[in-house]
Amino acid sequence: MSAPLLPGGTIGILGGGQLGRMSAIAARRMGYKVKTFDPSSSACAAMVADSHTTAAWNDIEALRRFAEGCERVTLEFENIPPATVSQINEWVPCHPSAEVLAICQNRRREKEFLKAQGIPCAHFVVVSSHDELSAAVKKIGVPCVLKTADFGYDGKGQVKISNTDTNLEDVWEKIGDGVGVLEAWVPFQLEISVIVARTEDGRTAVYDPAENIHRNHILHLSLSPARISDATRREAQTLALQIAEKIKLVGIMAVEMFVQDGRIIVNELAPRPHNSGHQTFDANQTSQFEQHVRAVCGLPLGGTEMLKPSVMLNLLGDLWRNGQTPDWSKVLKEPAAKLHLYDKGQAAPGRKMGHITVTADSLEAALQKAEALFAALTK
Ligand code: AMP
Repeated sequence: MSAPLLPGGTIGILGGGQLGRMSAIAARRMGYKVKTFDPSSSACAAMVADSHTTAAWNDIEALRRFAEGCERVTLEFENIPPATVSQINEWVPCHPSAEVLAICQNRRREKEFLKAQGIPCAHFVVVSSHDELSAAVKKIGVPCVLKTADFGYDGKGQVKISNTDTNLEDVWEKIGDGVGVLEAWVPFQLEISVIVARTEDGRTAVYDPAENIHRNHILHLSLSPARISDATRREAQTLALQIAEKIKLVGIMAVEMFVQDGRIIVNELAPRPHNSGHQTFDANQTSQFEQHVRAVCGLPLGGTEMLKPSVMLNLLGDLWRNGQTPDWSKVLKEPAAKLHLYDKGQAAPGRKMGHITVTADSLEAALQKAEALFAALTK
């Protein structure tokens, strides 16, 4: 067990996206120094870090130079090779571990882990050929969804199979070679996620579930608190804590879940800060980013209490029509709206460029205001 790393120390972050940027901002606010590592030299986390290393994930020399100045390392991106994390961990404690990362970045390992731990998830069959897919569709029934085992996010690498006469050869081809997971379709009413943090010595903290609304498979709005019963809320938090415990998480994790007739079905795990937790920056006692830093450094965990109901609105590149920056004055004039921009440069459709958090005395009021802001920005 490593000793707590107190403010003033240096944290390394693998990955230079917005999750790293906001973690770095939280760390720097607490007095830590921050080093980032990313294959891109223009990574948006680098702009708020003390130093940045641009190199490939398998560049051992560059990793060694990066690790030399760090007293603790963490990550903000799921598709880092686990071997990179194990290598770093030989030099300096790195959380979450390569084992946690390996489970969460592969749908097959993730589903098998959840099943083995008795966590409710959709029925699934692992398939590695067109023939296996045909047999699995017969077993699971339609509708169902085929997902690639590796590198899936925001609905990428997925094909829904709605009826029995679907051409499965086409479906298999779309997914490409390799291994897939065929999952039963869950007719859920709501999607929620729970952020949970855990330290190396087993202390935990859990946030209220957020309710997630997607557009084109990308998170559009995140509502906090989720519109679920107290019993469902407690069950969701209990499941997230159980998962953190069983997987031996050190750091922060988002557990994505479906709610179907009051029951919870776990969909995905992300061992890093999550898009559905961005509102905690403005609406909770401790943001998910500060909690990430606290958990990784072995500090006492911060309070998770929600101070006000809130709605987080993602700002995607689609809002930059014809290269025009949206009119932020529409947001800035709202006293209860907080604008976060990630300084990513080139906007592209679907690219996450920033977000807005709207707080209000009621969730309904926050939702109304967020929807009005979205309408104004898209006008
Ligand atoms: P994922 O990449 O697994 O997070 O899936 C992206 C989105 O696809 C989810 O947020 C759901 O809206 C939908 N989805 C994924 N798996 C299922 C499923 N088994 N049943 C119903 N909807 C699903």
